[in-house]
Amino acid sequence: MTYISRKTQAVIDLTALQNNYQYISTLAPNSKTMAVIKANGYEHGAIEVAKALEEQVPCFAVAFVDEAIQLRKAGIKTPILVLEGPFQESDFAIAIQHDLSLMLHTAAQIAWLNNDKGTYRSDIWLKIDTGMNRLGFRVEDAPDVIALLTEEHRKKLIICSHFSCAEIKNNPKTAKQITQVKALVEQYACQYSMANSAGILNWPESHGHYNRLGLALYGVSPIEQCDLVEPLEPVMTLEAEIIAIRKVKAGETVGYGDTWQADRSSIIAVIAIGYADGYPRNAKSGTPVYVNGSIAYLVGRVSMDMITIDITDLPKVSVGDSVELWGKNISVDTVAKYSDSINYELLTRLSSRLPKTFINRG
Ligand SMILES: *Cc1c(COP(=O)(O)O)cnc(C)c1O
Repeated sequence: MTYISRKTQAVIDLTALQNNYQYISTLAPNSKTMAVIKANGYEHGAIEVAKALEEQVPCFAVAFVDEAIQLRKAGIKTPILVLEGPFQESDFAIAIQHDLSLMLHTAAQIAWLNNDKGTYRSDIWLKIDTGMNRLGFRVEDAPDVIALLTEEHRKKLIICSHFSCAEIKNNPKTAKQITQVKALVEQYACQYSMANSAGILNWPESHGHYNRLGLALYGVSPIEQCDLVEPLEPVMTLEAEIIAIRKVKAGETVGYGDTWQADRSSIIAVIAIGYADGYPRNAKSGTPVYVNGSIAYLVGRVSMDMITIDITDLPKVSVGDSVELWGKNISVDTVAKYSDSINYELLTRLSSRLPKTFINRG
């Protein structure tokens, strides 16, 4: 066993992950629900997440080929879709070697596909741009692109698109994106995939042959108010220990830059987590944390290795007590609001210094 002095960690509840997957897949009963585990599984640990889900999911998705190779090397046999597709022609050989599916979105990628002469046996995931204006062929160019595919490839066509505003209910932009995809799907009698987490939750009419479930899998919601998100369980708990407690007098300040000043005599606890672990440096004074069943508030600036909280009003807090920064009691959304960020970013920018502990309640 390696010796661990600092108890700062992200606890990953794999049972919550499995429950979330199970629940969300029932919201789209006619779709196959892919689990998107790019960016190290939204920094929950892609390999452990994949192993926990491999019996349940038909397909994983990652952003680029290197992320997929890492999963294959760990023994994951489930189909894997590479969402950004090949970056160079040699990615095709790698995809064949590791049995990966590549999203195709540029003319160069189609040319590489056609150079291959049939060893690439995957479905043809074709990305169409319906208004995100990031990746994909324009809708009006789709017929010319599809005409470049071989007969064999056309039989395996899956039209894909990505939403720019699916988190906003009844947004006409999303409705238009859905209409455009469905028109192509009808024209080419092919399969399709467009829904991300927000699409699955907000837009049942967008559910395709495959949906691409990312954020909500981890028990975090991309949308604000929605009854459907109630059963989701946060998978990650970010926790750290109190390493010191001190008294400050009224008028004294705490931390770098003297940004917080005590207006009464106060008790301050110092917690062993900082921005070097991925706790957001711009979290403001007043950001809540959870200690021994109560809420306490961040005071002063976040340092590299520490934060400080005001525990004056908390009954019984000692050095060594554990503090939840986010998890089942404080949502990562709340911390995101106090730090001008979003849940996606706070999760994925946790640092490699932060250890993960995996639990399974099953
Ligand atoms: C990341 C990603 C998803 C998953 O999005 P969530 O909002 O996390 O559900 C789906 N599709 C594509 C193309 C993506 O890049």
